[in-house]
Amino acid sequence: MRYVIIGAGVAGFAAVESIRSVDKTGEIIMVSDDPHGFYSRPGLAYYLTGEIDDKALYSRTKDDYKELNFSFLKERITRIVPEQHKLEIEGKPAIVYDKLLIAVGARAIPLNVPGAKLEGVFKLDHLTDANNILKWAKRGRTAVVVGGGITALELTEALLAHGMNVHYLLRGDRYWSSVLDKRESLVVEGHLQEEGVTLHHHSDLAEIVGKSGRVAGIRTADGHTIKCDMVAYAVGIVPRLDLVQGIGLNVERGILADEHLQTNDPDIFAAGDVAQVYDPLTGHSVLDSLWNPAREQGHVAGLNMAGRKSTYLKSAPFNVTRLAGLTTTIIGAVGRGRDEDVVGIARGDSETWRELPEAIVAQSGLDVNHIRLLIGDKHLIGAVLMGDQKLSFPLQKMIANSADISPIRDSLMQPDAPIADLIADFWMGWRKNIAV
Ligand SMILES: Cc1cc2nc3c(=O)[nH]c(=O)nc-3n(C[C@H](O)[C@H](O)[C@H](O)COP(=O)(O)OP(=O)(O)OC[C@H]3O[C@@H](n4cnc5c(N)ncnc54)[C@H](O)[C@@H]3O)c2cc1C
Repeated sequence: MRYVIIGAGVAGFAAVESIRSVDKTGEIIMVSDDPHGFYSRPGLAYYLTGEIDDKALYSRTKDDYKELNFSFLKERITRIVPEQHKLEIEGKPAIVYDKLLIAVGARAIPLNVPGAKLEGVFKLDHLTDANNILKWAKRGRTAVVVGGGITALELTEALLAHGMNVHYLLRGDRYWSSVLDKRESLVVEGHLQEEGVTLHHHSDLAEIVGKSGRVAGIRTADGHTIKCDMVAYAVGIVPRLDLVQGIGLNVERGILADEHLQTNDPDIFAAGDVAQVYDPLTGHSVLDSLWNPAREQGHVAGLNMAGRKSTYLKSAPFNVTRLAGLTTTIIGAVGRGRDEDVVGIARGDSETWRELPEAIVAQSGLDVNHIRLLIGDKHLIGAVLMGDQKLSFPLQKMIANSADISPIRDSLMQPDAPIADLIADFWMGWRKNIAV
């Protein structure tokens, strides 16, 4: 049996591990066009600020790779031919597969303005991008960041950490309006301003102005100009679908995969950022760009490829991240509407977060220690925690396991309810119900 995995991200790597756990002798080939192999993409934010070095991005050792006994090809697949079970690589012999996993991730949506191709314009998809940003930031003084979601903030923080003056352009009236509520956006913006970031609301980038092929400034749609040496952007991502165009796979926004991560071709599986997977919370297939779901999907895909029937049950997506220095957990369905700064979804984001069913909001705390709960009939359906993270784990578990919160529901909804205490007390009793 020959298993081929396209992509050396967390989904692809988890599949190698799970295939090998079931099939000790089958041949496994992983193909990736990223010269840096498998590393932590969320970790790129901390690498960019200088908090960790590039070695810390790698969680696996040479011995781990040896033990898994697979081949790694640093190549780009240019075409999939399902009828012949064949993968083409330019200028090289084709690779034949018995079972294929497509785990090619997503790519940044490019800026669509004049000047977007000038030297000094950066996205943040992978380690090579991060290295290019670091090199450029050394000689620059002023940067403009464009976009929304987590990555735009990470770019802002990184450029600040390297001593640059940062201007952050927001199309709307507040940061990440599709996921955060107004108060949370203002907390994040307040922290950015304290750190010295100049925020420009209602600012639509119209043009990047160049001099000798390099960035020299920007112009907004309302005619405002800013002189700068670089532009960093994160306006959203899109699953890499070029390989699956016209080959008969069912595709919507991503490659449609069932609960076994199998596509409509029984020998082809899809996992991670490229896959669109059924979500019981919302009742339809959604995209995530989250590390943990990508790993779990890769794991389940690998088991099924190796013949061990296994089901991926998508649970409430969560992310523990840092927004302008504030540790923030986002769980389940918390927002709604459209964010003018992001097209589709962003990195570290889930479509589920914005699919807010009927819910009542309860919140408490100010600024750095803030909790917002989305309360359904009997269950919590989402939560945002900023600052103090003591309840992050309990809330993840309670939401994922649909804890019946009827005993505290009314109390949670009282004005000025001590939400943190109510949840902590409830958790102490309820936790016995689950294996933690
Ligand atoms: C800067 C940044 C910050 C993030 N922050 C968070 C966060 O806070 N929390 C969180 O949960 N998630 C975060 N994410 C998202 C998370 O990292 C992704 O969801 C996850 O890495 C997706 O894994 P994947 O295996 O699906 O794809 P990827 O990791 O994107 O891997 C795709 C692989 O496919 C390869 N490939 C693509 N096309 C081809 C081809 N034609 N031929 C050969 N190889 C190909 C690529 O080289 C790569 O190896 C962040 C991501 C980034 C980049």
